[in-house]
Amino acid sequence: MTDFVIDPPTVPSVAVAGSAARFPVRRIFCVGRNYAAHTREMGFEPEREPPFFFTKPADAVIDSGRVMAYSRDTTELHHEIELVAAIGREAIDVSAADALSYVWGYAAGIDFTRRDHQIKARDSGRPWDLGKGFDESAPCGPLRPAKPGEVPATGRIWLSVNGVVKQDGDLSEMIWKLPEIIAILSRAFELKPGDLIYSGTPAGIGPVKPGDVIAAGVEGYGELGLTIGPAK
Ligand code: MN
Repeated sequence: MTDFVIDPPTVPSVAVAGSAARFPVRRIFCVGRNYAAHTREMGFEPEREPPFFFTKPADAVIDSGRVMAYSRDTTELHHEIELVAAIGREAIDVSAADALSYVWGYAAGIDFTRRDHQIKARDSGRPWDLGKGFDESAPCGPLRPAKPGEVPATGRIWLSVNGVVKQDGDLSEMIWKLPEIIAILSRAFELKPGDLIYSGTPAGIGPVKPGDVIAAGVEGYGELGLTIGPAK
């Protein structure tokens, strides 16, 4: 046992559907502007230019069913529903054809964004960390183990706030498909068990406020719900 000078941090983890066991989280990778209609709503023309990535800290995950404090230091906390793929085997320089065999399971997650910080960073050419990599910014529903040969290519991806549907897309709208995303990430990073990939959001992103009740899901892959609490 290593003799640490302070108590070591807890291992972040996400729930597993139908199990008391949990999936430990190592890193969180996110894909930007991966649905055409969302790209347009952010003021850009969708192109099949190479995908771009940003990260969140592993301990940004929180479970479905929680009350999530409204984030500090923002007046524009935005929801982005995303399909999450959880990596279960080391993946380095893998091909798109093999990429899905490295996925342990899938879930519905939310890439919460402090839009005020993100836009300021984007427009001034600065890093996105303040806008994306903050505490509790990566809610993740229970992971559902991948089925052999399964390809998450279609399925409704949606999010509602207080019962009103705000995001309603389909996985088939993804500009870069999940096998390609994993293959490209595996060239830039050594993907390891415990890595989560948030694969982009469809159109309809928007603000939440304390008291809002959020329900969301990806058809066939998982659901999650949260209540937004007061700011800490
Ligand atoms: Mn996103």
